[in-house]
Order: sequence, then C-alpha cells, then structure tokens
Amino acid sequence: MADGTDSDSRRLLRRLRDTLAETGKGQERLDRITQLIADSMGCEVCSIYLFRDEQTLELCATEGLKAESVHKTRMKLGEGLVGRVAKSGAAINTADAPAEKGFRYMPETGEEIYSAFLGVPIQRLGEKLGVLVVQARTRRQYSDDEVYALEVVAMVLAEMAELGAFTGEGEALAAPHQHPVLFRGGTGQEGSAEGHVWLHEPRVVVTNPVADDPHAECDRLRAAVAELRLSVDTLLSEADTGDGEQQQVLEAYRMFANSRGWLARMEEDILRGLSAEAAVEKEQSTTRARLDQVPDPYLRERLHDLDDLSNRLLRILTGQGAETGAAMPEDPVLVARNIGPGELLEYGRKLKGVVLEEGSVGSHAAVVARALAIPLVIHAERITTEALNGDHILVDGDQGVVHLRPDDTVAAAFRDKIAMQAKAMERYAGLRLLPARSLCGTTVALHMNAGLMADLPSLEGSGAEGVGLFRTELQFLIRNQVPKRAELAGIYSRVLDAAKGRRVVFRTLDIGSDKVLPYMKPQDEPNPAMGWRAIRVGLDKTGVLRMQLQALLRAAKGRPLSVMFPFVAQFSEFIEARDHLLREIDREGQLGHVLPERVEIGAMLETPSLAFAPKAFFEMADFVSIGGNDLKQFFFAADRENERVRRRYDSLDASFLSFIRRIVERCAETGTPLSFCGEDAGRPIEALCLAAIGLRSLSMRPASIGPVKTLIRRIHLDEARGVIDAALASGAQSVRPAVIDWLSRQGEER
Ligand code: PEP
Ligand code: MG
Repeated sequence: MADGTDSDSRRLLRRLRDTLAETGKGQERLDRITQLIADSMGCEVCSIYLFRDEQTLELCATEGLKAESVHKTRMKLGEGLVGRVAKSGAAINTADAPAEKGFRYMPETGEEIYSAFLGVPIQRLGEKLGVLVVQARTRRQYSDDEVYALEVVAMVLAEMAELGAFTGEGEALAAPHQHPVLFRGGTGQEGSAEGHVWLHEPRVVVTNPVADDPHAECDRLRAAVAELRLSVDTLLSEADTGDGEQQQVLEAYRMFANSRGWLARMEEDILRGLSAEAAVEKEQSTTRARLDQVPDPYLRERLHDLDDLSNRLLRILTGQGAETGAAMPEDPVLVARNIGPGELLEYGRKLKGVVLEEGSVGSHAAVVARALAIPLVIHAERITTEALNGDHILVDGDQGVVHLRPDDTVAAAFRDKIAMQAKAMERYAGLRLLPARSLCGTTVALHMNAGLMADLPSLEGSGAEGVGLFRTELQFLIRNQVPKRAELAGIYSRVLDAAKGRRVVFRTLDIGSDKVLPYMKPQDEPNPAMGWRAIRVGLDKTGVLRMQLQALLRAAKGRPLSVMFPFVAQFSEFIEARDHLLREIDREGQLGHVLPERVEIGAMLETPSLAFAPKAFFEMADFVSIGGNDLKQFFFAADRENERVRRRYDSLDASFLSFIRRIVERCAETGTPLSFCGEDAGRPIEALCLAAIGLRSLSMRPASIGPVKTLIRRIHLDEARGVIDAALASGAQSVRPAVIDWLSRQGEER
C-alpha cells in the first residue's frame, strides 16, 4: 500500500477481515491489526487510541511505540494531535509533528523520534470511538491517497468495534453502547418512567464491511440506488400537497438520490475494498460529522435529508426494514429523532416513555404524548446514535433528563422517586369521589382537558367532573386527510357516551400557529402564533367549521351540547361564529335531525383584547374559558414555544394575576360562568391562587386533578385571598413568595 493502489488497500482490508474472523481476545486482535497496518503502509508506527470515557482517550494498541505505554498513555479530548483529531473528527496530516500547534510530547511512548504523523478519527455514524495513527521517522507528508486509505481502514475498525470485535478485555476495550450516558434535554410531558429502549428507526447493522469483488459490490450499489430513486419518484408523484413542506423534502431527496458525486464517492470506497453497505455508511458518517459543525438550520435540515436517504439505501441493501422482526421489549420507551402524532398514537399506551432528539413543547407528538400521559423528553441530542434496542433507560420528564444504561445507584434513586409518585397517586385515588372543597367551604369544580378517545378512561379514574376542554384538532392532526363529518360525529358521540352525562366542552378546530395539519397547505407566516389560526381560519374558510358544527350537533343525539370557539379576539368574531352555529342548528332541525336538548355557546379568552370586550359580549356568551397558555404569551409578549423566554415571566406575576382578577370581575358583573383551562390550572399553587381570586372552575390534565384537589382541601381559600391581596398591595413582583411562605407556615409542601 505504500504506493496507495486500490489493490493494496483491498488486500489490507481483507487481512483485517480475516483477523476479525480468527478467534482471539480483543487485545490480541487490536495488536495484530496495528502490526498489519504498519506493515501494509510501510510505516514504523501504527497506534490505536480508543475513548475510555467521553473525554479521555487511551492508547490501546501500538506497533512501534513502547509497549509499556499501552493502557497507560491517556489524553483529554482536544489535547495533543490525537486529541485534536478526536475532537474535530477530521484527519491531521503533518510532516513535522513536534512543530505542529498543540503537539504534546508523551515521554513514556518514545515517540520523539518520529516526525511524520497521520491521524484519522475512528467514528461510526457520528459516534466517536477513537483515533487511528501512523507515524514515521522521515519528514514526509502522507499523500491524499494514503490519507483516504487510512480513513477507509478506520471505518472498518469502527464497524468491527460496533460488532464487538475488541470487547471483553480491559475497560478501555469495552464495546460501544455499554457505558451509562446522561442526556439533558427539555420537558415535553412530566412524569417518570423506567423501561427499555425501543428505537422507532432501528440502526442498520453492517456485518460485512469488507467485500472481495468490487465490481459485484458496485452493481449492488447501483441497483439499490436505482430502487431508491424509483421509490422517491413514486413518493413524489403521490404527494399532492402542492408546494408543501413534504414536497420540498422529497425534492431534496430526489436531488441527493440523483447526485453523481454521492454515488461516485461511494463507488470509490468500494474500489478500495469496502462493501456497498460500508460505503454508504462511510458517506453517512461524513454527513453526520458535518451536521455537528453546521449552524445554519436550513443546511442542517438538508443534511438530515441526506442522512435519511442513506438510511433508506442501507435498508434496501441489507434488507433490514424498519421492521426488524425484533420483539418490542418489556416496558418500551420509544427513542426517535422525531415522530409524527399518528405514529405515536399507533404505539399508544403501551409506551412507558418517549425520548426525542428534536421535537418541541407544542409539537403534535408532544400534544399526543400529553394526551396519553406518557412522560416525554425532547432535545435529547444524539440519543438515537447512542441507544440500542433493549437498553435500560430512565426517563425523567419533570427535569427533562434521560439516563441511558444507568448504573445501579442512579437506578435505585430513580425507583425511589417513582415509588413516591406511586404512593401519591394512591392518595389521590382515595380522594377521587370527594369534592375540591376548601376548609372554608368553597368548592372548586375540577374538570379535565382531553382530545383523544384515549383520554376518556381518565374521566372515571381522575374524579374529574367533566371535560372542560376537548381539543378537537387532535383528531385532525393524527390523520392524513380531513376527517369526514360522519366519522367525526361518531367520535364525538362516543366521547359523550363515555362522559355518561357529564359536561363536555368541545372546542372547535384550533389549527394554525404550531398546529399545522399535515394535509393543509402551510402558510408562510412571519409570526404564526399571531397569524391565521383558530377561529380566524374557521371564519374565513367556513366549510370545515360548518362541517364540524354539524358533526357536533348530530353527535349529541338530543343530549346537551357545549361548544367553545378558540382564540376569539373581539366581540364581532364571537357573534359571527355563534351565528354559524345557530344557522346550523336551524338547518339540522329543518333536515329532521334530533337537536340537542340545549346548546351552550362559549368563547375562549386567549387574547387580552377580549377581556376589554363590551358588556354585551359577556351577556351573550353562555360561558367563557380562559386559555391561559395563549393569554400569558400575549400578555407578556413571550412566545410559549421559545425555550429562551417561555419561563421568563411568572404566572403568578402581580400584573397577570390582577388582569385575571379583572376578567373574573367582568364575568361576575353579567353572571357569565368562567373557567380556566390553560396548563397553569393543573399546577397546585397556581390553581390555588386562581381559586383564591374567584375562579370556581378549572380544567387541567387528568393527572393534575389529584394534586390540585389535595391542596385545595387543605387550605382556607379566604385566607389565601388575603395573602394575595396583601402581596399585591405591597407592590411585590409576584405573589408566589408570599403564597409559598403562607403555605409553609401551614405545614404545606411547595
Ligand atoms: C390555552 O391557550 O391555554 C389553551 C388551553 O389552548 P391551547 O393550549 O390548545 O392553545
Ligand atoms: Mg390556546
């Protein structure tokens, strides 16, 4: 290989493969491999450094350096030339290593006599495993060909490591995916879960990194690429979303799939001795390494596209579909880069938890996870690279933390936490049939929020008095086309059946903003949260609104019906929406359908403007429900989806609480029933304050009903009101400290 020819390269790879096939311990194999490489490349030194932990590399085998330094010489990530290669994921090729910036002399290795240095990363699909180094006495720069050849060798080493070829001896030789890893992400849905990893898209395992017949491999690759192109074309012709996002992604796929450079690079790797699969994976590794360095979101998305495409190609080549035939482990925790709401719903309640690399609090998947009460952690970067099917995993949705392959102490502490939560659940279950009545005799009605049929069993279990908010958009989000009227009527009717006479408040379709229907042409709006959403869409495109109202009227089958319009910003919008409903009632009557015994028509108060609507609005509305999530974001001008600002303003901020109190007063003037259905209603201290300032109806996630009820039953609401009044009068920024202080004086926990 000194001359860098392809046949030399192939010979070396074949010898590596044979080494892998021979029996022997991991260390022996590594030693033989360093000899082989040094020999084939005609250099005096070949060394393999592997990660001992995330930050430390260890010399694990060498030909040429002093044998005593093996498993002794270590360096930090970024330290010395080896550390730099590991950190950057890029080769370093220098004729004069000691003169290089950052060179660190390791006396125990005896490397001072070597001048030429070539180090390449050993990495697989973005996962860094170590560094492969060759050195020589002569001052020479390695040729591009030699660099390339060593990279191909490193790639095969990475594959071998993945297959466990160097396992079983010494800590530094531990196989990848065995040590504990902690991921700090964000909270998508609270709750804790212990279980085993179930990868939404299982990793493709390449068992044959080296191939004997490059021509046959090139033929296989070309056939697979042709199949891939065809499948992308078919997808494109089936996608009829105009200029939608799906179309754009598919166009990008097509561009990559037809890219000559992509295919040519892979063919070149095959000529060097790699199998078709290994060549695809090498390309994919390069893409992933680039992904880490690219800050531009658009470019990152395109690189993700390329990564997805490589995955598809690998599946075609290996025949390993998304369905691997592997059985889902016990207590499955779904791990994915991202997932659509429909797919998540298909897994349903059998999942103990969900961990996503991407996702956002308001994403559809998060909405579904919340509806199913499955703990969800988002932004767990690189977890799909690290996790293997079946790995032990702990999901802490409260803190947004994930422990993969935890050690025993972490797992034990985690179990204690789950046990405490389970005890609390038992206590809450005991309160199920009792009212949320405070010690001073005020009763607060606690309702639950829902959006899927899957939510409804919680109605019995949680002790909710009814459904204070049924988010109808979820039924639209989990489908790939607008549901039919009869289908919706069937669903709504089953919801009412399950409610067994309890009140269910159906909120009409709230789409737009973060909730984009997959089959709806996405609007390119600069600020979608303040854009064309919810009732604005309904009033502009009345077809779907009217269809939904008809479905609701039919679903009632004579039973009472409560309909609520979302995001009403002014009185006239309410009048218009209400008129649609009244007209539909008329029309249904004329068609001879049974009409609901009574129809209540309410509005969600989610924009500050509606709080200042004319008195006539409050007289006309049969009820008002405060959508605190939206109301708060507009009150503070702080995007609820933006991690940087969404927690910046306290919900118990004096100004916000005073504003809510004003809404309570306005509703009291006209006797309009008022409830609160944002997330804050489910937080015990917030719920307590809302009740103290006069709210008598709160709607929340079913799991919050127990904790909220427990707190309300233990306190004097009138005293709490006094505490809040005093805090407001004192000019405090937030009433929270005063309320917490008061609670602690009553022996209450925070
Ligand atoms: C709200 O805004 O508080 C609300 C309940 O609606 P959503 O969270 O669905 O926007
Ligand atoms: Mg809202």
